[in-house]
Amino acid sequence: LTILGIETSCDETAAAVLRLQDGCAELISDVIRTQLEEHAPYLGVVPEIAARAHAELADLTVKAAMHEAGLSYADLDGVAATSGPGLIGGVLVGMMTGKAIAQAAGKPFIAVNHLEGHALSPRLGNDCPFPYLLLLVSGGHCQFLEVRGLGEYRRLGSTIDDAVGEAFDKTAKTLGLGFPGGPAVERLAEGGNAEAFDLPRPLLNRPGLDMSFAGLKTAVARAAEDAPQTEDRLRDLCASFQKAVTDVLAVKAGRALEAFEPGEGQEKRFVVAGGVAANKAIRAALEHVAAEVGARLIAPPLRHCTDNAAMIALAGAERLAAGLVSGEAGDLGTGARPRWPLDEAAAKASPVYE
Ligand code: ATP
Ligand code: MG
Ligand code: FE
Repeated sequence: LTILGIETSCDETAAAVLRLQDGCAELISDVIRTQLEEHAPYLGVVPEIAARAHAELADLTVKAAMHEAGLSYADLDGVAATSGPGLIGGVLVGMMTGKAIAQAAGKPFIAVNHLEGHALSPRLGNDCPFPYLLLLVSGGHCQFLEVRGLGEYRRLGSTIDDAVGEAFDKTAKTLGLGFPGGPAVERLAEGGNAEAFDLPRPLLNRPGLDMSFAGLKTAVARAAEDAPQTEDRLRDLCASFQKAVTDVLAVKAGRALEAFEPGEGQEKRFVVAGGVAANKAIRAALEHVAAEVGARLIAPPLRHCTDNAAMIALAGAERLAAGLVSGEAGDLGTGARPRWPLDEAAAKASPVYE
């Protein structure tokens, strides 16, 4: 199966071509155009600007991916595009682009849940069969999920307020580090003392797998007000913040791993995915937790942690291969969703834009 994937749900316009053969995924092209420069002056993603940028870039990006792959639309077996969740303007642009190409070429369209893309992203290069425990940590989400198979997700716990990526971004904004916050905070944290500031670890001692990061963000803001903003203090504050987040994720991950039962004779696999999975300190801490219980940590390469179209093409290919896309037109009648939880029961209650 050869699939074109399109991703436009936030501030990356991306397109990729992927071949899935005997369960093995081969990436043929993988184009990501980030809109960093457009949003940087506003210290965050501006939905209107994102939608306009996607409209300008989507066509060019798809053509670049097809050109790089050396294929024409007739060579494809299907076209997949993110159909939610995300900023609705951008989602609509990518989805319409995908639907138009699919219809013109007479190929099935596959509506992909962006979160399913992140959830399957470890399968892009690694040996990562189902089932596995997933920690999804991105700009808008922070949750533990049991992934039993394609489309079989059970949520075990999630943040009750901010996502981890959001906490990184807000902390960076408070400290004047620019956007996006994650990489900037990580860079500064490397040279800092993580014990310098006594920051809270919210919900750490509460049983269960729910998490909270809003209080931590506020504590950072208060500490920043009190301390003189020298370069050293800034490094210490970033290191202390990153350590607090890492501690919370590590403790909850240990608990989740203990509860996770992969089944008779199955290896315990623990996947961390989403933009925050690019953080080296967090990856190292999770690696340690996994090793302690004899589990294997699997994380996508850095390029496929943050938003990309390769993971969307993979989700589309796996759905098509599994017969989850029906009819010649596929999901052509599916609308875009600003919110779209991975677990089905919650998904049914979310609004759809036709
Ligand atoms: P969602 O997938 O939930 O819809 P999103 O698509 O915006 O949200 P991603 O692209 O997966 O999220 O990830 C972006 C987030 O990851 C941003 O919040 C960014 O700050 C964070 N991030 C990226 N790199 C790092 C890093 N090295 N350390 C910590 N956070 C990071
Ligand atoms: Mg992004
Ligand atoms: Fe994402």
